[in-house]
Amino acid sequence: MMYYPEPISKLIDSFTKLPGIGPKTAVRLAFFVLNMQEDDVIEFAQALVNAKRKLTHCTICGHITDQDPCAICQDTSRDESVICVVQDSKDVIAMEKMKEYHGKYHVLNGAISPMDGIGPEDINVPSLLNRLKDEHVKELILATNPNIEGEATAMYISRLVKPSGIKTTRIAHGLPVGGDLEYADEVTLSKALEGRREL
Ligand SMILES: [Zn+2]
Repeated sequence: MMYYPEPISKLIDSFTKLPGIGPKTAVRLAFFVLNMQEDDVIEFAQALVNAKRKLTHCTICGHITDQDPCAICQDTSRDESVICVVQDSKDVIAMEKMKEYHGKYHVLNGAISPMDGIGPEDINVPSLLNRLKDEHVKELILATNPNIEGEATAMYISRLVKPSGIKTTRIAHGLPVGGDLEYADEVTLSKALEGRREL
């Protein structure tokens, strides 16, 4: 980096912090930005800052939003008796693209992972339990990812909720094992939802 003037090396450093960007790609992107129109660069920089400043997590469901509660929680036409529990906001977007699910969501913002020291209190489990006390929920669809952490999280929540009489279901394994929900195509996701089994 010492060969570059400081503003460029700073830009390269920033790109390196992004996932999937190695040093070579970072250099390529930095020089690409230098060749962009100034207006476009300003718009890009503002989009980054605005996304960070204006977005927050919905206090009800944990989904990323620019209004609290989020649009989905505020939507009275949705079925309040079903909550689909997912790990990440990106999973909500994937489910919404499918256009077949009309219930509510709960975004855990993570999964239980004892190996990484992540317990139920470190993700949005307490807020889920609070919702179940207040809202008239009949079914909880556990749509956490089909990997060890996702399965462990689904089992944990299922055991916790069972005594309350709320039905807990797990999405079917049409999804690639070890894969993320967000990468599943709409047909696969729709089948996984349709074929959900009671836990
Ligand atoms: Zn919400």
